[in-house]
Amino acid sequence: MQIVVSNISVEVIRKDIKNMHLSVLPPDGRVRVSAPVRLTDEAITMFVRTKLGWIKKQREKFQQQPRQSARQFVSGESLYVWGRQYFLQVEYSYKGNSLVFSGDKAILTVRKESTAKQREAFVNEWYREQLKREVAKYLPKWEKITGLYCSGWQSKYMTTKWGTCNTNTRKIWLNLQLAKKPIECLEYVILHELAHLKVKNHGPEFVAVLDPHMPQWQERKKLLNESKLDYMDSNFE
Ligand SMILES: [Zn+2]
Repeated sequence: MQIVVSNISVEVIRKDIKNMHLSVLPPDGRVRVSAPVRLTDEAITMFVRTKLGWIKKQREKFQQQPRQSARQFVSGESLYVWGRQYFLQVEYSYKGNSLVFSGDKAILTVRKESTAKQREAFVNEWYREQLKREVAKYLPKWEKITGLYCSGWQSKYMTTKWGTCNTNTRKIWLNLQLAKKPIECLEYVILHELAHLKVKNHGPEFVAVLDPHMPQWQERKKLLNESKLDYMDSNFE
């Protein structure tokens, strides 16, 4: 459902939640409100009205960014880590690359003449470390819950899939770009791939593995596939 507040089109999604949640989404500053089911349109309009200043500010941030499809790893671009948006600040040094965070800034230190590809490669390795650390927590958790154990897992940069599973070797691959998404999404993909160890397709039997352990899995799946950022069409491997 859409409402219009001060010439801004706002997508309203009613959900079983207690509080309203307002988002301004990249790349073009689309506005979305998640609202409790029973809240009236008037109340939502009022709420959005009080946030107009913030919405404007967020949209300006997006406009200042270079187009997402032409990522150069320069200051001002967005960097997502576990669903949180940071703004890249590139600094130069010859003492080694680093990526550190301060408030909403992601400070990437690289050699001045490094290319976009070299910077991306460094950032991807950094994502891989983040993913490894979280998978070390969540894979054993979901193996224990489901009683389905894989023989091992590996991260891989993929542009079309979030995860994949070889049912013969019982090995799982996870897209390292999952480290850009909220952590619930990683948990969902882990559960999804483990479920394939029992059921190869996505039929009712498969759903029956997911449902009892993660009743909200469809929401998480949706979260994973919406606001696709730029990454799924990147040609970097
Ligand atoms: Zn699947």
